[in-house]
Amino acid sequence: MIIGEEKGAFELAILVTGGAGYIGSHTVLELRQAGEEVVVVDNLVKGHREAVRDVPFYEVDIRERAKIIAILKDHHVDTVVHFAASSLVGESMVDPLKYYEDNVAATATLLQALVEANVKQCIFSSTAATYGEPIETPITEEHPTVPTNPYGETKLAIEKMLEWSYQAYGLKSIRLRYFNAAGAHPDLAIGEDHEPETHLIPIILQVPLQKRDHVMIYGDDYATPDGSCLRDYIHVMDLASAHRLAVKRVREEGIGSEVYNLGNGKGFSVKEVIEAARVVTGHPIPAKVGDRRQGDPAVLVASSQLAKEKLGWQPQYNDLQTIISDAWRFHQDHPHGYTK
Ligand code: UDP
Repeated sequence: MIIGEEKGAFELAILVTGGAGYIGSHTVLELRQAGEEVVVVDNLVKGHREAVRDVPFYEVDIRERAKIIAILKDHHVDTVVHFAASSLVGESMVDPLKYYEDNVAATATLLQALVEANVKQCIFSSTAATYGEPIETPITEEHPTVPTNPYGETKLAIEKMLEWSYQAYGLKSIRLRYFNAAGAHPDLAIGEDHEPETHLIPIILQVPLQKRDHVMIYGDDYATPDGSCLRDYIHVMDLASAHRLAVKRVREEGIGSEVYNLGNGKGFSVKEVIEAARVVTGHPIPAKVGDRRQGDPAVLVASSQLAKEKLGWQPQYNDLQTIISDAWRFHQDHPHGYTK
C-alpha cells in the first residue's frame, strides 16, 4: 500500500511477530508474493532464522517495547500480524504461568506499543483450543469457548484483550482460529521444525526417516468410526492465504474486531492419517495403540463458512495426501530440522 505524494512517498509495511516460526514464515512469504512490504521480529527461542529470507529481520522479543515502537515507526507499519507465542498444550498444563507471561503479558506489552505508535490494525494467530471440548460439530465461531488447557485459555484472553482494545483505542483486529496446521511450502525449503515435536504428521514421518520405530496412536476407544480421534488438518499455505486476506479486510473501513475459524471442514482419524502417510512415503510405518492423551477431544472439525463468505477464503490444499506429501518433502530435505 503506497501512501503520500509521489515525492517522499513510502510504502506501508506489515510487521509479523514470530515470523521465523512455522505458520509465521509461510505467511511472510505469502505477503511478500502479494507485493507487501514485510518486516519480521522474532526472539528465535523457537523460531528459525533460516526460515526468514529477503525481508528486514530483528531478533527482538515483543516485550521489548521501545524497540518495537522504533521498528513500527521506522518501517511505517500500519498492520501487525501477531504469531509470537508459546504454543505447546502439554507444556502449558505443567507451567501455566509461563503461558500467561509469554502470551498474555507479552501481548499486552505489544499492544501498548501498537497504541503508542498509532498502529490501528492487528491480525491475531488464535486456535481451536479456545473452544475446549466441543458440544457440537462442525464448530462455528458461535460455539461456547471453554478452553481445557492454559494454552487455549491464554489465546482466548488475548482475543478478549483485542476486543476491548478496539472499543478503547480503535485498534481493529481479525482473530484467526486455526484447526490442525500441517504441510509445508510446496516449492521453497520452509516447513515445520519443532523441538520437541508433538504433532501427529511430523511424528509419523519420523518413522520412515528412521528417527523412531513406530507411531503411538493415543487411544482407539473414542466414539469415532475407527475409534481414533478425528482432526481437521489444514495446509499451512491455506493458513497463509487466510492471513493475506485478513490483512486486506482489516485495512477496510468499518471493521471492528472479528473472528474466523480456519479448517477444511473434514475430519481425518489418526489411523487414516497414518495410512495416508504409508501411501505417500511407501514405508509400512508400524503403529501401536497406547493410552488416550489427556485433554484430547474425540472430534475437532471446523465450520469455516464465515471465513469463506467474509474473507473470500478458499482452501486450495484440502487433500490429505497433498498435505502429507508437502510435509514429507520438507522432512526428507531437513531430516534433522533447519540447522542440525
Ligand atoms: N496423536 C497420536 N499420536 C501422536 C501424536 C498425536 O495419536 O504421537 C493424535 C492426538 O491424540 C490427536 C491427533 O493425533 O488426536 C492430532 O494431534 P496433534 O498433537 O498433532 O494436534 P492437536 O489436535 O493436539 O492440536
